[in-house]
Amino acid sequence: MTTKTALWDDLLVGDELAHLTAEPAREAMTAAVPDTLQPAVREALARRGIDELYSHQAEAYAAAQEGGNVIVTTGTASGKTLAFNLPVLDALAADRHARALYLYPTKALAQDQARSLGQLDLSEVRSAIYDGDTPTERRRQIRGWANLVLTNPDMLHIGVLPRHDLWGDFLHNLRFVVVDEAHVYRGVFGSHVANVLRRLRRLARIYGAEPQFLLASATIANAGELARALTGEDATVVEDDAAPRAERTIALWNPPLLDAELGLRASALGEASRLLAGLVGRDLRTICFAKSRKSAELIHRFASDRLDAATAARLAPYRAGYTPQQRREIERRLVEGELLGVTSTDALELGIDIGDLDCAISVGFPGTVASLRQQWGRAGRRDHGLAILVASEDALDQYFMREPPALLERRVEAAILDHANPRVLDGHVAAAAFEAPLDDGDAATLGPEALERASHVPELRRTQRGWVWAGKDAPAPRIPLRSTSPDAFLVVDASSGDVLGLAERERAYSTVHEGAVYLHLGRQYLVRELDLQARRALVEPFDGDWYTQAKKETQTSIEEPLRVERRLGLELSFGRVSVTEQVVAYQKKAAADGSTLDTVPLELPPTTFDTEAVWFVPRPHQLEGLEAMPLLLSSLHAAEHSLIALLPLWAMCDRWDIGGLSTNLHLDTGAPTVFVYDGHAGGVGIAERGFDQFEGWVADTVRLLEGCPCERGCPSCVQSPKCGNLNEFLDKAGALTLLTRMSNSG
Ligand SMILES: [Zn+2]
Ligand SMILES: [Zn+2]
Repeated sequence: MTTKTALWDDLLVGDELAHLTAEPAREAMTAAVPDTLQPAVREALARRGIDELYSHQAEAYAAAQEGGNVIVTTGTASGKTLAFNLPVLDALAADRHARALYLYPTKALAQDQARSLGQLDLSEVRSAIYDGDTPTERRRQIRGWANLVLTNPDMLHIGVLPRHDLWGDFLHNLRFVVVDEAHVYRGVFGSHVANVLRRLRRLARIYGAEPQFLLASATIANAGELARALTGEDATVVEDDAAPRAERTIALWNPPLLDAELGLRASALGEASRLLAGLVGRDLRTICFAKSRKSAELIHRFASDRLDAATAARLAPYRAGYTPQQRREIERRLVEGELLGVTSTDALELGIDIGDLDCAISVGFPGTVASLRQQWGRAGRRDHGLAILVASEDALDQYFMREPPALLERRVEAAILDHANPRVLDGHVAAAAFEAPLDDGDAATLGPEALERASHVPELRRTQRGWVWAGKDAPAPRIPLRSTSPDAFLVVDASSGDVLGLAERERAYSTVHEGAVYLHLGRQYLVRELDLQARRALVEPFDGDWYTQAKKETQTSIEEPLRVERRLGLELSFGRVSVTEQVVAYQKKAAADGSTLDTVPLELPPTTFDTEAVWFVPRPHQLEGLEAMPLLLSSLHAAEHSLIALLPLWAMCDRWDIGGLSTNLHLDTGAPTVFVYDGHAGGVGIAERGFDQFEGWVADTVRLLEGCPCERGCPSCVQSPKCGNLNEFLDKAGALTLLTRMSNSG
C-alpha cells in the first residue's frame, strides 16, 4: 500500500492540486447464504466460490422474500447483480413456470448480464436476449422457451407490450422485473420508461400476475423516490453497502491559470495527458475518461508523445463500436499487464468491466456525481487506488475545485423524472388503450393522471368497454422514448444512412441547423442539411477543430403560476410558461481557445413550446444601484447564467437541459424578471426542484461568483456555452450584488 502511494506522491504536487483527500479502507460485512435458497442455486454459488454473502445482498434477498419491491443502491462493484439475481434464480429454480424480465438501458449491458448468468451454469435458468437484433425466427422460440428474458425499454415499449397476446403465457407467469442501472432513467427518457413500466404492470395484472420489481441504482440520495417514480409503487431501500473497499486517494486537479483577468486556464486535456503519462510511466494501470472521442484521442496522443516508444505502445484508446470480442481483448491485455493506460469517452462508462486498475482520471465533471463515482470506482477495487478529477473551465467544475465538500461530501443528487408530463403521458395513454380498453380500474397501475388524459387524446373513443384505440396503426412506434415531442427530427448519418438519434423539435433548430457541429456518443458530425418538411437532419462525420453556437431570440410568457412563495425577500414563482425561440444565426468557434471564426445568419421559423419554469422578480432595494440600463439587464443576465450553471448540483440534469431568460421588463410581471426553465416540452421536474431548493441554489451561486478569480466574468462563472446572445451583456459584479442581497434576505 505505502509503496503505491509513494509511486504517485511526487506527481500530485504544485498549484494544480486543488484538493487531496483519502477515503479509508473498509472491511466487508458478510452474512450466511440463506437456508431457504434452492439447493441448485446454493450449489451454483458454491461452484463460483461464493460461500457467504455481503450483508446487503442477504438483506435484499430477505426483502424480496417478503413479496415487496426492492431497490439496491450501493457502490460500484459492490455485488448489486447478485443481490437482485438471488431472489430471481431462487424463484426460477423453485417453479419451472415462473418468469423474469430484465431491463437494461443498452444492448451491451444486457449482453454482459446474459454472459454472467450463463457462467452460473444453472440448468433451471433458461435466459435469452430479446432485442432489436434478435432474428424473427428466434423470437417465437424465446417467448416459449426462456424463463429469463433480457431486453431494453425500447423493445418492451414497441415489441413486447403492443404484442402482448404473443406474450400471454410469459406475462401470466411473470414473477420478477429487474431494472438495472435505474439511475439512468431520468429526465425525458426516465419519464417515458416510467410509463412503459406502468403499462407492463397493467398488462401483467390483466393476465393475472403482480410482478415484484427489483431495481439497482448507483448511489443516489433518494432511491425510494426514484423507485416509486419509475414503477408507481413503493420499494424497500437497501443502501448499507457491505462490500469491502480499498483505500482510495482522491485528487482534484485544476489546470493552471494562464490569465487571471480573463479567467483563462491551461487545457484540461494537456493536464490529463501529463497525469496519464506520469502514472503509466510509474507502471500504474490507469483509465482516463474524456467527454468526447476527440478529446480521448488527443489525450492518448499527447500522453504517447510524453513517453518512450516502449511505454507508449502500452497505451490504447477504448472506443464505442468495439465488438464484445474486441472489448474482451482490451480487458485481457489490461489484466495481464500488457496494457497500462486506456483512454475512453465517458459514454462508455457503463458496462466496461475492465478489472482492477490502479488509477482513474476523469477529465471534466461528467454531469452527475453518480457518473463521476462510477468512473472513479474503476480505480483500486482491491488495492489502494487513486481517483482524479481534472477540471474543465466549466463553471460547475471550477466551483468544485474551490468547494470540494460540495462534490465529495454532499449526498448525491436526486434523479428527476415526471411520468405525468402530458407531453410524455398522452402517447402512453394511447398505447395502453391500444393494448387493452382503458377504464377507471387502470388508475391503480397507470396512475389517475392517465385516465384524466384519456379524453384529451384525439384517437381514443369512449365505449362501454372503456376508452379504446380508434386510430389506424399501433401508436407505440410513433412515441420515441428519448423525446417529449412526437414530431422530433431524425438525425441521419448521410455517409452510412444510419439513424444516430433524435432532436426534439423545440431544440432541433439550435442543435442541428445547417452548419452545426453535432456531438453524438462522443463523435463529431457536421450538419449538411436540415429538412424542415421531412423533419430530418443529414449529417456527416467531421474532423474539424471548431464547434458552433446558435444565436437565438427567446421570449417567454407566463401561462399559469402554480406555486408562489415569499422567498429570499422576493416573490418566487413556479409554474407553466410558454417559450418561443427563433434561431437567427450561428457562430463558428475555435476549439482551441473559443475565439469566434465566423458568424453565419440563418433563416428558421420560430418554435414555441410549453414547459415549466421558476422565475423571480427582484425587489427594488435588491436592485439598488443597478437600475440603469444596460447594467440592469447585464446583471440579471449574468445572474441567470450562473444560476443555470449550478442548478445541476441540485437537480440531477445537464445544463443543456435548462434554458433561461432575463429581461429588464417582462410583459407579464411588469418588472425586471429572471426565468429558468426546463428545456424539455412539458417539463420533467427540473424547474420545480430549483424552486424547492432555491435558498441553497442561490447560496451556491453567490459562492461561485465570489470565488471566481476573473475580473469581469469568464467561462467559469457568468459565460455560458449555450447563450443565445453569445454572451453579450453580462455583468458579474452586478449579478453578485443582486444574488448576495437575495441570499442575505433569507
Ligand atoms: Zn469568472
Ligand atoms: Zn444568455
